[in-house]
Amino acid sequence: MHSHIPDCDDSDGHDRTIEKALEHMLANVEAVAGFDTVTTWDALDRVLYQPVTSPLNLPPHTNSAMDGYALDGSQLPEFGDQAFRVIGSALAGKPFCGAVGSGECVRIMTGAVIPAGTDTVIMQEQVRREDDRAIIGIGHRRGQNVRPAGEDLSAGDTALPAGLLLRPSHLGLIASLGITELCVRRRPEVAFFSTGDELLSVGQQLSEGQIYDSNRYALYAMLKRLNLETLDLGVVRDSRDELEHAFRTASVSGDAIITTGGVSVGEADYVSETLAELGAVDFSTVAIKPGRPVVFGRVGAAPFFGLPGNPVSTMVAFYQLVRPVLYRLMGRLDAEVPVLIPAISDSRINKKPGRREYQRGILSRDADGHYRVSITGKQGSGLLRSMAVANCFIVLSAETGSLEPGARVEVQPFSSIV
Ligand code: AMP
Ligand code: MG
Repeated sequence: MHSHIPDCDDSDGHDRTIEKALEHMLANVEAVAGFDTVTTWDALDRVLYQPVTSPLNLPPHTNSAMDGYALDGSQLPEFGDQAFRVIGSALAGKPFCGAVGSGECVRIMTGAVIPAGTDTVIMQEQVRREDDRAIIGIGHRRGQNVRPAGEDLSAGDTALPAGLLLRPSHLGLIASLGITELCVRRRPEVAFFSTGDELLSVGQQLSEGQIYDSNRYALYAMLKRLNLETLDLGVVRDSRDELEHAFRTASVSGDAIITTGGVSVGEADYVSETLAELGAVDFSTVAIKPGRPVVFGRVGAAPFFGLPGNPVSTMVAFYQLVRPVLYRLMGRLDAEVPVLIPAISDSRINKKPGRREYQRGILSRDADGHYRVSITGKQGSGLLRSMAVANCFIVLSAETGSLEPGARVEVQPFSSIV
């Protein structure tokens, strides 16, 4: 046995807090090297390798923000109505090519280039048409309803910074600059496997004492959501030799390695031992529930995460501890602000003080606009259905004890829109 596997991680004998664990991992993981050139279409959920510099003004032309009439704002009436002769029209993509003189105006549509000699647009709802004349009253301001060229971006400006995780708005912005290809960081490859003598992959017949491996599927899906490359190494038996072999295979191409199971203190829990032999163990517990036995270390240059085998523990540990570190590996620099919203609990919540807990909840909004949450039922870390029916985590601080219905809690919704 290896005595240098830390059991608790602080000198005072306490498990490290989530914050400390994250701080440590983030300080010890760097973005992978290398980049890919991809089309704008393929850039979604990739991380920008270089800043995007705007090659043009955005918008490229001064244009109308409204459907209406373009005229020279110095001729707006101060008192009463004034008639302007409508001498033509300007549409988006079909500019008016002539010059607009005194007492004249041009019918203009949203997005059309502002014609020479005009600088102001009057909304069509505020104009009275009489044959070829537009009658305009008082109350307008010179320059109104006009979007100046370069209002959004000037040529040469940094449109998007390096390290940005690209979302739909970014693809739109990149396209609006006329950019067809861009440099994004190489996608890290995450090697993963399940450990356990009892595990069978789907498609095989269960015999006594066996269960289907669910963690690999959930883990695969969580990695795909982050748009990572995955390397599935299957189910590995609880044997030192098999584990060692899997570790070595994983570290050949894996930029990170994730395992599930075999990290607690049972007789067949060899993951920490193997990691200590082949690499380094930084810590092996975090004050979190579910998910206390979580191993972090490295094999060669690859960060290693050993998640506990209970399916809910695997998922909670992944979301709360691994996901932020994988973003670091992907080179993401834009901060993700953790979203925690206050809600009223409709359930009694059982909890012992000591660890940060992530209970599974169903969040709704009542007729008065208050967020209410109830627990999904039994909270055992083996009950994956508690995750499957949940739409949020109820986040309970380490100090919190049991709570009666009506208590105020904080919840972390599983999804928002972007
Ligand atoms: P372990 O962390 O290996 O002690 O496993 C804890 C519990 O989770 C045991 O009941 C295991 O059978 C179960 N478990 C471990 N790995 C998996 C898996 N990949 N899929 C489903 N259940 C698992
Ligand atoms: Mg096991």
